[in-house]
Amino acid sequence: MSRKEERAPKSSAKLADTIDGIAKELSKFSCVSYLDDLQLSDGLLSGAIRSAAVIACSDMGGLVPYLCSSANVRLYLFQNFGHDYATGGFVETVVGQSVENVVVYGHSVCEYTKFRARAAVDQPTRDLYAVALDSDDEAVWRDVGRFNVLFVMKQLLADPTISPIAEQGRLKVHGWFYESGENHLEVFDPKHRAFIGQQLKLPDSLIVKYGPLETHDRVGETDKF
Ligand SMILES: [Zn+2]
Repeated sequence: MSRKEERAPKSSAKLADTIDGIAKELSKFSCVSYLDDLQLSDGLLSGAIRSAAVIACSDMGGLVPYLCSSANVRLYLFQNFGHDYATGGFVETVVGQSVENVVVYGHSVCEYTKFRARAAVDQPTRDLYAVALDSDDEAVWRDVGRFNVLFVMKQLLADPTISPIAEQGRLKVHGWFYESGENHLEVFDPKHRAFIGQQLKLPDSLIVKYGPLETHDRVGETDKF
């Protein structure tokens, strides 16, 4: 057995502790709630949800999975390297447009996750990323990706502009994680303090229509290229 393999179980346990810790912290915020893709799409289309902003990773591609593509809803899509909320006018849009729902959206097999793990200098995430780099296990990397979503949600809720809006009940914050291997969406559920996988299987006969990419107010670093 190599030194890497010997260290893995202990490191994985440490990673689980870290994720559980931040999940527990987020669960204390009343503004953090479960909202899945169907609830968001149906809510926007029916008018029950007036507006939403999604901050997603740029390497998820142009057709972001599980996101409503109707041109007739107020859905602001931001994409950058990772899903950093403090860029591209995200906060300004949330405040200026009185956005009611924010989704932080991460994914598996994420180049950003691996880049950040190698470049991380800030605590406590440095130790967390070291676990993934040490184990080189895709399952561990997925956990790191889930952690990153929760970490950005926590940063967002500490933002001096966003925090009061959330405390006043005018903004809900949600966490999504796309597992590309299984092609399914996981949604953070504060009641369970965990990401919950979507079990819905669409009938084969269902015709899925994709809207044009221009339908959303697309803002992010990728627009610069
Ligand atoms: Zn990514």
